[in-house]
Amino acid sequence: MKIDRALFHPDYKPEPFWWEAARPGTQYSGDLPDRVEIFIVGSGYSGLSAALELARGGRAVTVVDELAFGEGASTRSGGGVSAGVNIGKGIAGGPGQAKQSGAHKKLIESLMSESLAAFDFVGTLVEREGIECHFERRGRFIGAYTPEHFEGMRKKAEDLNRVIKIGARLVPRSEQRGEIGSDFYHGGMVIERAGKLHPSLFHKGLLDACHRAGVTLCAHTKVERIDGTLGHFTVKTTKGDCLAEQVIVATNGYTGDLSPDLRKRIVPISSQIITTEELPEELALELIPNGRTISESPRITSYYRLLPGDRRVMYGGRARFENVHPDFSATLLHRMMTDRWPQLKGVRITNSWSGFVAMTADAIPHMGQEDGLHFCTGCNGSGVAMMTYLGNQIARRILQDGHCDSAYIGVDFPKVPVPFYSGNPWFLPIVGNYYRYLDRKERRRSRL
Ligand SMILES: Cc1cc2nc3c(=O)[nH]c(=O)nc-3n(C[C@H](O)[C@H](O)[C@H](O)COP(=O)(O)OP(=O)(O)OC[C@H]3O[C@@H](n4cnc5c(N)ncnc54)[C@H](O)[C@@H]3O)c2cc1C
Repeated sequence: MKIDRALFHPDYKPEPFWWEAARPGTQYSGDLPDRVEIFIVGSGYSGLSAALELARGGRAVTVVDELAFGEGASTRSGGGVSAGVNIGKGIAGGPGQAKQSGAHKKLIESLMSESLAAFDFVGTLVEREGIECHFERRGRFIGAYTPEHFEGMRKKAEDLNRVIKIGARLVPRSEQRGEIGSDFYHGGMVIERAGKLHPSLFHKGLLDACHRAGVTLCAHTKVERIDGTLGHFTVKTTKGDCLAEQVIVATNGYTGDLSPDLRKRIVPISSQIITTEELPEELALELIPNGRTISESPRITSYYRLLPGDRRVMYGGRARFENVHPDFSATLLHRMMTDRWPQLKGVRITNSWSGFVAMTADAIPHMGQEDGLHFCTGCNGSGVAMMTYLGNQIARRILQDGHCDSAYIGVDFPKVPVPFYSGNPWFLPIVGNYYRYLDRKERRRSRL
């Protein structure tokens, strides 16, 4: 595909728009201690959230990151804050897959209930720590890709309201323009209990809070190996060794060779985003009149919203499952955006970037521990609330000597997480193309 240079604004940058307000850096970075009570690998939302709770609980905590603080997914996301609506979608999603988990219905329901707690937790944290990150509870609109998907949403809205009272309601196609200035969807569903924030400012707020709480922070420090067992870990890093009583691995989609066991249980998938130049006020208001976040029902989904200030669009999606050049994904995403909003043809792109999310075979985020080595992983593309919450839950479990009420504890990974997979996701381009083909076929059929 040819890259159309006319689509790029003269000030175009191949990096996250969010970094203009808060760029991942090394502020607060210090020396690696020789010994610590709890050692945390990864300075994204999950690592920092765990660190904050532990430090406030009186524990000596060190967080290290191979990159600058937050340079993984946490400062690259779309900033949609949602509660559990994705559970049951399976790797890459799919409207029919929720039914397959019928045997685990009760478990799924308690996981969903808890995901609402995760959504509420973000609000509590933002307020308690005084984090200025444009957090707004303005709800979410999920567009139905086909009439059949819209019908499927009836049951889903009922289930959501019954299980987690999330304020779900259907919007028929005839009323859709009240939610989105587009005729692309066959109606959709509004979820009132959802919101959005500025990902980098939220991350910065967490980092500042960790610093205030006395957490030791070390940037550009890669963990190469973890040896030992509960009470006696040796963490080998590029900056030397550190002895630790307990270790938390909070590396999600950036999990490399450090933990082969985790690595083969999650598939890192690339997600890409563009932002546009400023639009006329009336046009921006027409696009998303209620300022909600937007997502949609096909296997390969897009997610979009207005940026703070409500004059520019952020459009994200899985243009490709594998990592591609930001100019290439920008061109694809622009095409996807103008399929939904033809009125944005000719509007230029200011930023394009990508990051990795971690998918699991059962679409459920997992947390657990083996002999003092704790982990949380598998955000399945939706981790602003959930990974922040799970980090906090791991910390509480440590503070409460192993006790934890979370339903996420004890949910085992599927026995064969991903068939014939040991950590190298060579199959992603093939799977991506296959899902795209299925989505297109379904949509074409629905027009007959
Ligand atoms: C483009 C994009 C859009 C998204 N949009 C949304 C959205 O709108 N809403 C939503 O809810 N979620 C969204 N997400 C998902 C969300 O961003 C993630 O779920 C969340 O940020 C994960 O946080 P984390 O702390 O678990 O992992 P991360 O933020 O990825 O942090 C992991 C860290 O571990 C570090 N690390 C890895 N290995 C090592 C090692 N060996 N030594 C030291 N450090 C190591 C990495 O450098 C990284 O900084 C999106 C993600 C992406 C990429």
